[in-house]
Amino acid sequence: MAATDRVSAAAILVAAGSGVRLGAAGPKAFVEVGGRSLLAHALERFVAHPAIGEVVVAIPAGVPAELVAPARAVVGGATRQESVAAGLAAVGDAEFVLVHDVARPFVPAAVIDAVLAALVAGADAAVPVVPIHDTVRRIDASGALVETVDRTTLVAVQTPQGFRRAVLAEAHARGAELTATDDAVLVEAIGGTVVAVPGDDAAFKITTPADLARAAAHLAERRP
Ligand code: C5P
Repeated sequence: MAATDRVSAAAILVAAGSGVRLGAAGPKAFVEVGGRSLLAHALERFVAHPAIGEVVVAIPAGVPAELVAPARAVVGGATRQESVAAGLAAVGDAEFVLVHDVARPFVPAAVIDAVLAALVAGADAAVPVVPIHDTVRRIDASGALVETVDRTTLVAVQTPQGFRRAVLAEAHARGAELTATDDAVLVEAIGGTVVAVPGDDAAFKITTPADLARAAAHLAERRP
């Protein structure tokens, strides 16, 4: 049994985005790859995890709640932050909450374990990170290249991000006017400790049609 198996954790899966950049007819979470929706791929990983007792999914208004079974559905908001807040209002009293983008459907269990282990070790929040392999440059307002950023000092942040539930609730309550692309930023804004744990390339984010092709290839590689 892993050290995190007796932990009490809930998961909020945010699936209320429109998926405009994917160019799909409907919400991104319900786009299929390998015959199943991105949501179904993500959901099975959290439902199967022994430390996670409750899963809440933030879905777009108008989507039938039955589509997220065996998880519970809440209607998401106009922004990711609002969708997380809606999920947070619906979770029970687990000690820890993981927040995951359904746009990252193939997150390995080892990443979930690493996030939980950091919380058990005392962090207020834990975020999975991966190195950046591309050269990264800053551009000015006209789009002209400015300096090259030292990529050895940069990482890309993935999900799930994990939190002490009470800390995340306070961060959302106090940060409602801030616009943050992730919840760890809100926790830092109230002085919480956020630690990095190893992410995984398999937890890549699906944003564009090319990412969807990568997702299909990823699944094909894993088929027996
Ligand atoms: O738009 P982006 O891909 O950055 O969204 C990240 C995640 O947040 C996705 O899983 C998306 O479904 C979710 N989201 C949401 N509610 C919104 C916007 C995004 O649940 N209003």
